Amino acid sequence: MSQANVRVPAKINLCLGVGPVRDDGYHPLATVYQAVDLHDEVRATAREDGEITVAVHSELDVRVAGEIAFVPEDDDNLAIKAARLLRERTGVTAGVDLAIRKVIPVAGGMAGGSADAAAALVACNEAWGTGLSRAALETLAARLGSDVPFLLHGGNAIGGGRGETVSPVLARGSYHWVFAMAHEGLSTKAVFAEFDRLNAHRTVRSPEVPDALLAALRAGDAEALGDALSNDLTEAALSLRPELGDTLGIGLQAGALGAILSGSGPTALFLAASEQHSLDIAFALSSTAGCADVVQSRGPVTGARLT
Ligand code: ATP
Repeated sequence: MSQANVRVPAKINLCLGVGPVRDDGYHPLATVYQAVDLHDEVRATAREDGEITVAVHSELDVRVAGEIAFVPEDDDNLAIKAARLLRERTGVTAGVDLAIRKVIPVAGGMAGGSADAAAALVACNEAWGTGLSRAALETLAARLGSDVPFLLHGGNAIGGGRGETVSPVLARGSYHWVFAMAHEGLSTKAVFAEFDRLNAHRTVRSPEVPDALLAALRAGDAEALGDALSNDLTEAALSLRPELGDTLGIGLQAGALGAILSGSGPTALFLAASEQHSLDIAFALSSTAGCADVVQSRGPVTGARLT
């Protein structure tokens, strides 16, 4: 039976505005996503007996090897949920073996699980020959999670709703990033709960994407982008993990153009002016107690694609 391989990037949020919790428990978000050069790979091998399985592995990467113990290999895996949803929608009876090669940090605020779900949709659509259009896959993606539609899309995009409505943003340039991965993940749910606790007696306004950030992207101006980076979950994440404040400070001292947490953290992002500059920042971070790993990357890159 047929096989398909898909590469899928991680995401970062250049800004993350968070509004007051809605009746359905979700928070309205106003974000600008960027897909970055840190990829998981999902291989789908169709099988005739209708079984759907997943296996997760990493290659020679000590950090990821430790983290994959936290990735479920049962129906809770988002890649399996994606395969089941596609099967329901198309009526195929075949099964699939999904093999995930993990590089994106687990519970790192870079949407690794959502990335695998986006990749599984594309890979199963190919391996099963179901032929759904990109638009049809995006509709399914939105049902799987807030970040999944963007990870099909890639590039830069504005995210609204709870993150699942993706619209294009005018952007130029390619940016140099340094990512500082923490020793232990942070639960997105716990960070939002802390956000609600901290804001219980404050007025939380409807979130907006800052004009300065959009102008920086339109101009391809890394310095202005560094100044415009923002994340409304910072206070909550730092309240749960105060040492992340030190990591952000060390990157800024090393001259980063901007420093924020990625999504709900704990991965910290640093914008550099050049390849050499990102090397200097990475070097400064590499001896920091709170960093399990430091990775240089580029963005934007394309979304989930067959290889
Ligand atoms: P986000 O940025 O979307 O909030 P995250 O990057 O912080 O998420 P993920 O790596 O997506 O976090 O994983 C969160 C949890 O989801 C994990 O702890 C794990 O239990 C579960 N999970 C389910 N499927 C996967 C998968 N394919 N890869 C990673 N985690 C998965």
